[in-house]
Amino acid sequence: MVEETFITSVVGSFPRPRWLIEAFEAFSRGKMDKDEYEEYVNDAVKLTVKEEELAGIDVLTDGEQRRTSFVAFVGQKIPGFKVMHISEINPQGIEIMKRYKAQLTYYRPVAVGPIEDKPFTVDEASFTLSITNRRVKVTIPSPYLIMWEAWHAKYSKDYYKEPEELAEQYLKLVRNEIVRLRELGVHFVQLDEPMLGDLIEATENEPDRYRKVLQELNGQRYRGFRNELSLAKDLINETIKGIDGVRIGMHMDRWPNPDSPFYGIGYERLAPDVVDIKVKQYVLEYASPGSGDPAKFAQLLPQDREIGLGVIEVRGSRVEEPSEVVARAERLARVLDPSRIWLNPDCGFGVGMFRKYSRKIAFAKLRSMVEAAKQLRRKYS
Ligand SMILES: [Zn+2]
Repeated sequence: MVEETFITSVVGSFPRPRWLIEAFEAFSRGKMDKDEYEEYVNDAVKLTVKEEELAGIDVLTDGEQRRTSFVAFVGQKIPGFKVMHISEINPQGIEIMKRYKAQLTYYRPVAVGPIEDKPFTVDEASFTLSITNRRVKVTIPSPYLIMWEAWHAKYSKDYYKEPEELAEQYLKLVRNEIVRLRELGVHFVQLDEPMLGDLIEATENEPDRYRKVLQELNGQRYRGFRNELSLAKDLINETIKGIDGVRIGMHMDRWPNPDSPFYGIGYERLAPDVVDIKVKQYVLEYASPGSGDPAKFAQLLPQDREIGLGVIEVRGSRVEEPSEVVARAERLARVLDPSRIWLNPDCGFGVGMFRKYSRKIAFAKLRSMVEAAKQLRRKYS
């Protein structure tokens, strides 16, 4: 069998159709019952999966159509977490985000009790697998992310004295969930770890802008650059230790800030810890200007690892030409075998339910990426 090269995938979310958001609002106000809302959601998933198939994506997701956001949904699914609006968590919440120019999702998961082991993505995955023959990826918020996002000094302290205790408990749930997804036949489980990528713009004593927000919003405390890195590494390695039979990846964000002295620097800044994280695939943002050079990071990687290369921007309305995507991939193909390079957009197109983005443009961008993959395969075969 010929080895696959430049496999195409998506990072996770796809913009929700307007009718889904309207249905969600009606459901939230008690104007629509659960069964009816469920039908809307299932239709949105069918539509999204079909669009990904039509675009030619090899390994697809359900577009996270069921989730309020990529992280908040744990608050709906896992007992012990609750979804709260940012202004409810902290009346100054929106102000704080503006002050640091750091946009976080408005609906947020908060640990308000002991969290319980319960399947939280299995229903989504079963449905997706039932409507497509393609390989399926499922995204899960990573324990280090959940620690920063969901531990709150006021609401969580009675149950988890320190944020690390919440992370330790949550990672056990994630371990069980990964095994459940593997048994279902899911091909790829992606741990979402945006806060690790954000660390690129932090220094030993000064946190990045997102952590500055969460320190004030949740009453968290920055541990210093080195300690944060090694904590993230340990938590993720403990989560996936010994689990085989399913491809496990980790997605990091990189929204370069032109005001930062680290603009133009990539994930290599997080080495060596980041390459000691034993995931098979690093799903990385590299399409935005200022993200750095993927070849620099790739050269640090052990031989058995892959890069899911971000080649499509998820902001703006300009659709990349396939030739541009080819050029972005070739930066990496110079140093990494094409069987270890996957192509994906930088991030999800709709990380939160209310993020406005044109489905038409998102679809056109996926098409362009798939066309680029075809050209690359011809060139490198
Ligand atoms: Zn992302």
